[in-house]
Amino acid sequence: MESRHAFDLVIRGGTVYDGTGSAGTMGDVAVRGDRIVEIGHVTARGARELDAAGLAVAPGFIDVHSHDDFAVLLEPLMPFKVMQGVTTDVGGNCGSGVVPFEAGLIRFRRMHPDADPKPWDGFGGYLERVDEARPSVNVAVLMGHGSLRRGAIGIEQRRPTTDELETMKGWVREGVSAGAVGLSTGLIYEPGRYAATDEIVALARELGGPSGGLYATHMRNEADGLLDAVREAIAIGEGAGVPVQISHHKASGRRNWGRVRESLALIDEARARGVDVTADQYPYTAGSTSLAAVIQNGAFRSDSPGGLGQLAGEHVLIASAPGHPEWEGQTLASLAGRWNLDAGSAAERVVATVGDACFVITFTMDETDVRTVMAHPTTMIGSDGVPTGGKPHPRLYGCFARVLGHYVREQRVLKLATAIHRMTGMPAAKFQLTGRGVVRGGAFADLVVFDPATIADVATYEEPRRFPAGIRAVYVNGVEVARNGAHTGARPGRAVRRGR
Ligand SMILES: [Zn+2]
Repeated sequence: MESRHAFDLVIRGGTVYDGTGSAGTMGDVAVRGDRIVEIGHVTARGARELDAAGLAVAPGFIDVHSHDDFAVLLEPLMPFKVMQGVTTDVGGNCGSGVVPFEAGLIRFRRMHPDADPKPWDGFGGYLERVDEARPSVNVAVLMGHGSLRRGAIGIEQRRPTTDELETMKGWVREGVSAGAVGLSTGLIYEPGRYAATDEIVALARELGGPSGGLYATHMRNEADGLLDAVREAIAIGEGAGVPVQISHHKASGRRNWGRVRESLALIDEARARGVDVTADQYPYTAGSTSLAAVIQNGAFRSDSPGGLGQLAGEHVLIASAPGHPEWEGQTLASLAGRWNLDAGSAAERVVATVGDACFVITFTMDETDVRTVMAHPTTMIGSDGVPTGGKPHPRLYGCFARVLGHYVREQRVLKLATAIHRMTGMPAAKFQLTGRGVVRGGAFADLVVFDPATIADVATYEEPRRFPAGIRAVYVNGVEVARNGAHTGARPGRAVRRGR
């Protein structure tokens, strides 16, 4: 059918940020089909027009650190991401992946207790399933080492046999050819924590060099052992000859506050000798993980706190406790007080009752460190949102708007063009999301139109399920998925395969 319009969509008169870090320029953006076709002064009309006067027009945000692998199938509208301007979600982080199917299911049932998807075969099968589900966002995946290890070895605390290592290597090779964007580890989690450095190097070598994907890691330690953990991550990248992404970079535990200056110096040193090391960050002083993992890492013991550092009961907020909504939003200290227990024993009681589906929010970081990491040129933005029930960490709904509102406009930690680059062009290049993350002729029309003067996260720890303010419109592959704070119901997302 011949359209009587030259374009399907023209976004007029906005300040266009192209995602490269360059300053914004006034102009129009014209879209035909799923692509950007013209930028600048566009005279011909579009079938649809959006007046963007006074607004910023940017590439859609890329969430490099998501745990939405199952959410995109179970809740394909993905409102918590779309409504904050995210157009591409990278799943499979922290070692939790979708292959092999049964091992992945065990991990993701913690977030979605009733999930019962039809099995898929390999990463190729998963990506096909994403295409069938047609979520509202594009989806790329990392291969989660914890799931590979669980599939090959179970949760045994030992080295893999030669055969078991070969099994894991085979899964990595399949993922590389199917288009996964890299290999992730979660080295505080069971069973990833049982892997020695050489096991991870052996698996990362199967990526076959930089074009085969990157190595992303939730490091072995983000507390007292932070610097050694950064050294290990860099050594794995160097040993395997692949780029490195340090996940949710931080220093946990009061006595480690300030150490991000040293960890960032290690990143700079490695980059100076040619290693491609970058990091990502969520813009909050609290993290979130499963309570079972907090216990397993010894966080309530003063003698041997592990990778999370030491935690007091008042620094732990219950986010989700399936079957016990009355605990959600309460601190562990208040439950412990009611039960007349210490924090560690109260945590054990919660886990004995609801199992590892209990997620918590942990206040472990220093605000100055958050700013120091954000200001560093190697830091991208990744929400690390955990799509559970209850009261999830507000980063699930507000991460990107919080950077642009609180940290760019109010605190001036970053310039707007720089912040946009860290959420778009920079991650697209690192994760090999070809044709995305930039506003350029021929690029995919993943776009977000927002008001830099009003954009703000309004999700809080008490009321996390709130969409950000100031997002005017969001487009995925040329189709409008959000307009004036409402989801359009459109589901134009696709599986994004590395380099394609
Ligand atoms: Zn993690």
